[in-house]
Amino acid sequence: MTLTLSSDATTTESEAVRRRLSGFKPTGRLHLGNYLGAIQPMLDAVASAADAESVIMVADLHALTIEHDPQRLRSLTAEMLATLLACGFDEESIYVQSDVPEHAELHYLLECATGYGEAARMIQFKQKAAQAERVRLSLLTYPVLMAADILLHDATEVPVGEDQAQHVELARDVANRFNTRYGHTFTVPRVVYPPTGARVMDLADPTGKMGKSSLSDSGRIYLLDKPELVRRKVARAVTDGHGEVVYDRDRRPAISNLIEILAACERDDPTVTAARFSSYVQLKEALAEAIVDTLTPIQRRYSEFINDRGYLDAVRRRGAERVRDRASRTVARAKHAIGLH
Ligand code: ATP
Ligand code: MG
Repeated sequence: MTLTLSSDATTTESEAVRRRLSGFKPTGRLHLGNYLGAIQPMLDAVASAADAESVIMVADLHALTIEHDPQRLRSLTAEMLATLLACGFDEESIYVQSDVPEHAELHYLLECATGYGEAARMIQFKQKAAQAERVRLSLLTYPVLMAADILLHDATEVPVGEDQAQHVELARDVANRFNTRYGHTFTVPRVVYPPTGARVMDLADPTGKMGKSSLSDSGRIYLLDKPELVRRKVARAVTDGHGEVVYDRDRRPAISNLIEILAACERDDPTVTAARFSSYVQLKEALAEAIVDTLTPIQRRYSEFINDRGYLDAVRRRGAERVRDRASRTVARAKHAIGLH
């Protein structure tokens, strides 16, 4: 078989294009950590830099790395698509990872440029492997799939919460190594953190991050939680017992987390936010209302999207069609560089 490479087959596309990529795993429902750490910064960036492109991916292949139920995965994927649209992302920027087979293809090529030790030392692998009854091999290799997600699009920026820093670093290492060994093939992306909200902690256990697949629901606020439930969870949030509203992440982690969530919702500086309150009760009341104000419009739009399955299917189909062209060109470039054709 002969394959004709397009004229840009040996150069990356992004030299001229700023492109951001963000992915969300349908391992559970989206929560406030996802919103403040990744969704809101991405929306802000879209609003402030019209010259940059955004790519939003429902990362369903990543949801297979831990014990999962097929029916639940299907419904969480639809729910996540509807929630991301409800958050305000343009349908033109969204697609579902498994609809684009080039992710899996590039994943394998990058596995051939990654050391076992590199994957095994990932903090999330160690943490999640320690919790799992049976560790899937894909849990070890998923950061390499994440590298493929990023490099497939020639993304220049990857806005993430702090928990993903090590994985973006791995993507950079693999890209650099591949480029050095096989010739310039991939754009090397940079990580971007939000000014506040890069690591939203669990409200019931401020030593752990708020996460979709953590065990308890009480410390996690979902984007679809109704106002009464939000108020209850905030009222029950753990505090430090000193009584003073001071922002100090090291010495007052619980109250600082609440301050930081409020500051992120209001796009303010946490120290300035803290100075407005003289009691925990006041802070918690303001926090609950700020969260409710953030979530209410999302919830209203969500119910429209989730009830229109025809539209969601069309968004999925069109999203895949839009990205496949770029994805297949990146894979062709990588295959050529590595010696497959
Ligand atoms: P899981 O527990 O299954 O890993 P998750 O809640 O960590 O789920 P992901 O889909 O892994 O969510 O991450 C989606 C995005 O949200 C990533 O950019 C990640 O950095 C960000 N993110 C996740 N949790 C937080 C958090 N607590 N604070 C800030 N950002 C977060
Ligand atoms: Mg995660």
